[in-house]
Amino acid sequence: MDATNGCADLAVFRLTTAIQQGYNTHMSLANKIVEIRKSSHLTQEEFAGKFFVTRQAVSRWENGETAPSLDTLKAIAGAFKVDANALLGVENPVCQSCGMPLKSVDELGAEADGGVSADYCRYCYPAGAFSREVSVEEMVETNLQFLQHFNAESGTNYSEAEARGILKQYLPTLKRWRQA
Ligand SMILES: [Zn+2]
Repeated sequence: MDATNGCADLAVFRLTTAIQQGYNTHMSLANKIVEIRKSSHLTQEEFAGKFFVTRQAVSRWENGETAPSLDTLKAIAGAFKVDANALLGVENPVCQSCGMPLKSVDELGAEADGGVSADYCRYCYPAGAFSREVSVEEMVETNLQFLQHFNAESGTNYSEAEARGILKQYLPTLKRWRQA
């Protein structure tokens, strides 16, 4: 798959999942950090020292205000022997812009401060802003360009009309479009 086609994984069939779980990735990440720190009996100060950040930074991560950078996230996972991807917490998280499944922390977008975005993929949200200002209708059409790929990957056989119908229902449930 062409790396620039990261939004190709349409995830059109995760409507229920998105409604139930998709909003919670950011808090899950925060909760996981608290969980890891507490189960290791470390204070925020001690935890911060291990990863060369301030106690305030750890406090903000745990409140879900900010998130660690991808490198720090991987360092945390490595230090505590947890799967970095498990830090996402939520089962089957999807990008809250394009609906792409976020299968790995490497697919996460980033905030302007370098912290990962638990909500968006790196194609939609590379550095604190959306890479493209589009309407939800345009995002539907963008995703449809990858329908063949999606069908091939998931063993489905959705026609363009069927997929468009699903996407029109599905994408507006995602965070980016709910706020629009
Ligand atoms: Zn995306």
